[in-house]
Amino acid sequence: MQPSSRRTFLASGLALPAAGLAHAEQANPSKEVKFTYRTLGKTGLKVSSLSFGCMTTSDASVIERAADIGVLHFDTARSYQGGNNERMVGAALKGKRQRVVLSSKTEGATKAEALAQLDTSLRELATDHLDIWYLHMKNNPGDVTDDLLEAQRIAKQAGKIRFAGVSTHFNMDRMLPYLVKLGQTDVILTTYNFAMQSVAEGANTDPQAPKSNMTAAIRAARKAGVGIVTMKALAGGVSRVGRGDRLYGADQRALSKQLSQPGVPAAAIRWVLKNESVDTAIVCMTDHDQLDDNLRAMAELFSPADASLLAKQMAYIGPRYCRMCGTCGGVCDKGVPVSDVLRVLTYAEGYGQFALARERYLQLPEHVRAIRCEDCAACSVDCPHGVKVRERVSRAQEMLA
Ligand code: SF4
Ligand code: SF4
Repeated sequence: MQPSSRRTFLASGLALPAAGLAHAEQANPSKEVKFTYRTLGKTGLKVSSLSFGCMTTSDASVIERAADIGVLHFDTARSYQGGNNERMVGAALKGKRQRVVLSSKTEGATKAEALAQLDTSLRELATDHLDIWYLHMKNNPGDVTDDLLEAQRIAKQAGKIRFAGVSTHFNMDRMLPYLVKLGQTDVILTTYNFAMQSVAEGANTDPQAPKSNMTAAIRAARKAGVGIVTMKALAGGVSRVGRGDRLYGADQRALSKQLSQPGVPAAAIRWVLKNESVDTAIVCMTDHDQLDDNLRAMAELFSPADASLLAKQMAYIGPRYCRMCGTCGGVCDKGVPVSDVLRVLTYAEGYGQFALARERYLQLPEHVRAIRCEDCAACSVDCPHGVKVRERVSRAQEMLA
């Protein structure tokens, strides 16, 4: 494939010092993108404030180039892409391992399972250690078992991991204080985005919106020395789906109008990074254009124009995007784990990753997959954030069951 002029230009950044400036502006080549770096809590690890989420990447050259021009942190998981993502990441980072911070995750339910997965991760990533190893998707205190914490201690002692992490997708404002109190976790990976802000924080103009405690929870955890890595900065990623994507349903015109607003992903990234307690934001990137856009977003400060864009975006995603607050856990009469289902739906709709969404949906228990919202006379789940739960869960069932 012939490299684009943008790529050629970016590749020229290779000659620049690692901690220096990378040039990443095709419209105005004289404009420089300045990398910003932060320190990951008490770990002392230096990370670029924009980190590379590899979950949805299938083009290894994007990862390779990101590492070459100054992105320092790359994140994957044993489970991503049916277990194939780590191998691709390992190949992309060949020869660069010593200068990047590499993380992966386990969903192993026991110490033995987790440690076996770690050995597989190391083999697939072609490395002898991970910088951060997360216990993945721990959304309730009971999920962080002594057995799994022991697995992390064993892995540390064996030199297979440097730091122990926990990733949390729901109930984050409860999980963060819990993990800090437990004192076993060096790094927390948490969902955090503009859809979780309170009115006082800017873009959320709905005075009825529930107050989010996430910004405070992040600040307190960081103050305690825990490294803070965030994910899902784009709040579902809907603005990056191509115009007229049929996945969004009937009102194509309204959707296209909404999606035509440029700058929303960049504003969303800047919103996360304006919180100085966030050490780095992992953003999934699939192609070179997204990488370039995100590098530019990292280099600029959050502005009033960003706040205005995000307020408009909130009006669109309000009834669609699950903030993963966990409030509706166990509320569905039939037993649908609503936030799990809506997260999976986001993979298909927001990230355009239908195969991943289907794979994750099929991992739900059989009795959950058999439920149909259309069989309910009324929905018992009343989302305080205004998510149209019945409509959205039905959508997931229609697409993925
Ligand atoms: S559907 Fe609403 S209540 Fe349930 S987790 Fe999502 S945002 Fe929270
Ligand atoms: S409509 Fe769907 S989400 Fe609501 S109670 Fe019924 S099965 Fe549960």
